[in-house]
Amino acid sequence: MDPRVRLARLIDFARRRSAYYRDLYAALPADAADLKALPPVTKEGLMANFDSWTTDAVATRESAEAFVADPSSIGRLFLDRYVAFATSGTTGRPAVFLHDKDALRVYIRLALWRRLPSLIRAGSLRTFLVNRARTATIITTGGHFTSSVIEALFRSRFPGLSGRNRVFSLLDPLPELVRELNDFRPAILGSYPTALAILAEEQEAGRLRIRPALALSGAERLSPPVARRIAAAFRCPVRDTYAASEFPGIAFDCRHGRLHVNSDWVMLEPVDAEYRPVPPGVPSSTTLLTNLANRVQPLLRYDLGDSVTELPSPCPCGSRLPSVRPEGRHDEILFLESPEGSLKPVLPLILATVIEETPGVRSYQMMQAGKRLLRLRVDEAPGHDRRPLCEELLRRLRDYLSTQGLSTVTVELSGERPRRNTAGGKLRQFFVEGGNRPSGS
Ligand SMILES: [Zn+2]
Repeated sequence: MDPRVRLARLIDFARRRSAYYRDLYAALPADAADLKALPPVTKEGLMANFDSWTTDAVATRESAEAFVADPSSIGRLFLDRYVAFATSGTTGRPAVFLHDKDALRVYIRLALWRRLPSLIRAGSLRTFLVNRARTATIITTGGHFTSSVIEALFRSRFPGLSGRNRVFSLLDPLPELVRELNDFRPAILGSYPTALAILAEEQEAGRLRIRPALALSGAERLSPPVARRIAAAFRCPVRDTYAASEFPGIAFDCRHGRLHVNSDWVMLEPVDAEYRPVPPGVPSSTTLLTNLANRVQPLLRYDLGDSVTELPSPCPCGSRLPSVRPEGRHDEILFLESPEGSLKPVLPLILATVIEETPGVRSYQMMQAGKRLLRLRVDEAPGHDRRPLCEELLRRLRDYLSTQGLSTVTVELSGERPRRNTAGGKLRQFFVEGGNRPSGS
């Protein structure tokens, strides 16, 4: 079906069944079908109007919050019909996203028909079979975060396969995790890129001895230097997915490393801070997402908060789906003060590249502590001396900042080590001290 027809049906459905959209679209013509004409919606606005936004009167915010607050409900459907993902909200209360069974069928179809064949082509089939198709998912377990919920649902639906799919907790001590993975011998290794990078080091050091056919990265940005390091250590391809609680499989990467948007089911509009379109090649301020698959909580031009760059098409892989490069969350863009007193935006992606290309960095976090002060937490890779590494890092960062006219910005080394955020277990690499909401999905 033409995505435009899906969109027209979704708009019509939202106006009839969601009081929130009925009011929001009251001034629009009855047959409004042009996406660009619709006013955008925000997480804050939707969560504050949860009960009038949701199209099932039984699915109230109160009952949904109670459901995700109960760890024993992971793997079950909310009201026996909805998948519930919890993520951090904007006001201290969690945000809850519900997905109905039709949406779930679309997500599964995309994963099986669009994702799986490309993964099978990418990974060595022989290695995959030698390891008996075992999948190790390494996440922080416990919360209703997207990765834990999907894993638990899969397990409850396909109990016969659950021996082949095991979840390992990132909260376990590293030697224990390494021992368990050695015993399990996974064919597929799935985790956050920061965790995969640590495991890659364990593999290089000879403590971890696994032969995966494929490494799957998700939930955080996978940068080219980190992808290369993981691929070299495990001698297998590394593949990336762009996912969110609002749509679990927004984009899948191709063999050229580009993330192709599943635009027949999810529409992305890279926009500036005033929600005006941003041309290809330019990082957007935020991105508007429209989910064409889900009805229980219609998402139409929803402010996702991610900065993405639309890549010029066509891609050499031949896919006709548009491709994007996620740059990180827009609230992580650092604004630093120049000697003249003006605030200049600095993209975390660039700073990340400067840091990650410094040999010996295991993991890091950068915090903005003032208009002219950045604080860096760093963990060195085994076999690297901390002092020379830190000096080199600070030198590279200062060099970069002076080329940007930000020579007055001080980079300071923190005595602390990088800390994983408890919400979803992601390692947030950039944030403003005390100023930003924690991210997790
Ligand atoms: Zn491609």
